[in-house]
Amino acid sequence: MGKRMLFLLGVAFLMSANLFSQSDIKYVFYFIGDGMGVNQVNGTEMYLAEKEDSIGTVPLCFTQFPVATFATTYSATNSVTDSSAAGTALASGEKTANGTIGMNADHTAPVYSVAQLAKNSGAKVGVISTVSIDHATPAAFYAHKPDRNMYYEIACDIPAAGFDFYGGAGFASPATSFNKEEVVSIFEILKRRNYNIAVGLSGYEQVKNKGNIVMVEKRGKNDAMKFAIDRDSADLSLKQMTECAIRSLYNRGKGFFLMVEGGMIDWACHSNDAATAFEEVVDMDEAVKVAFEFYKKYPKETLIVVTADHETGGLSLGNGPYKLNLKLLSEQKVSKDVLAKKINELHKSGKKVEWENIRTLLRDNLGFWDTVRLTKDERSELLEAFEDEFVKNEEDDEEVLYSQSGKVADKAIELLNRHANIEWGSHGHSAGYVPVFVIGEGSELFNGKLDNTDIPKKIAELAGYGKKEK
Ligand SMILES: [Zn+2]
Repeated sequence: MGKRMLFLLGVAFLMSANLFSQSDIKYVFYFIGDGMGVNQVNGTEMYLAEKEDSIGTVPLCFTQFPVATFATTYSATNSVTDSSAAGTALASGEKTANGTIGMNADHTAPVYSVAQLAKNSGAKVGVISTVSIDHATPAAFYAHKPDRNMYYEIACDIPAAGFDFYGGAGFASPATSFNKEEVVSIFEILKRRNYNIAVGLSGYEQVKNKGNIVMVEKRGKNDAMKFAIDRDSADLSLKQMTECAIRSLYNRGKGFFLMVEGGMIDWACHSNDAATAFEEVVDMDEAVKVAFEFYKKYPKETLIVVTADHETGGLSLGNGPYKLNLKLLSEQKVSKDVLAKKINELHKSGKKVEWENIRTLLRDNLGFWDTVRLTKDERSELLEAFEDEFVKNEEDDEEVLYSQSGKVADKAIELLNRHANIEWGSHGHSAGYVPVFVIGEGSELFNGKLDNTDIPKKIAELAGYGKKEK
């Protein structure tokens, strides 16, 4: 390219940047529902309506935003993306290879996220999720690693990015390197680099005025908080973590950028567990509502973008008959994971597990036999799973990414979904469109069909975050 051409391009860039210099966007919320395709959103709203005995939708907060469109999600190497390539695209605007965090497709150079741009522009920055802080989506905003499974090494990139607030379930591999060596705990490293570790809400209260914060949940597992459907009032929620992040990041100077991931919609969809997935979408919407309340205080200065990294499960709303029966899903009291655990506990109790024990458990937790009437064939399917799991005592559980459910739990949830007229295409991701919802000054910039890489570029443009180079 000639020098003159470069000059002209430079002028064009400055002019386009100038166009938006009028934008006063100072506060950016970037919500990512992992695995939240269009049917996950539509299904949730129709589920909420059917719970009230009506056909139609009960709108979530974010679906009422004035701009609603959709985006493609394919990665540089795969028609169907994984979360790390999708996260990198949503963070940095660059397509990369599946499995990659914050680097280009051939792993020769890092790519920098809109969060990093925000930080460089003087904004405070937060990254929070319901899964571990070193998991693919949050990692794509601060880390640069060729393999998403390098959890410890990913976490070690936290101080270099230097963001002000990190939050999540914990760390997937806090003291073991990718090479399986025992190493200095990530908590120790973070403390040395002046991060305050806040465990739960009470921990947050103790350190909230002391500078940079890494907030983790004490009651969940290291790699994930509990599913919303399984949570009790003592468990930390994404909504509460969002409130803490806002309190820590809020300032009237250069404002803030906050990425919030609903990370477990994806896990529920990998398990083909619709009730759990829909409750996760509602749960993320609760966090969006916190951002929306903030928006109402600073409507000229706040931008909220809600989207997803990819669809998971090939969720189909309808399985033949022209009807849905989503109200049945409200009979489900626990996630498939917890149901499997409950069944496993029967197993471990030492006593012989009788079919009657299973029947009682499925009646209490899924409404089987009372509200959900199984056909003779379906009863046989369930009995077969029971005999496989308990009588023959074969322990070869069907292994699904992120979930190790037993055969009875798997079959029971499959039957409940079938009765709700829901069908799943697979236990993996799909290339389906993901929805994009936006509110804030200049949000019409998002109109029209998008690619996932467009989204961070538009956010940077509206917030005036400047050039990409670090
Ligand atoms: Zn994902």
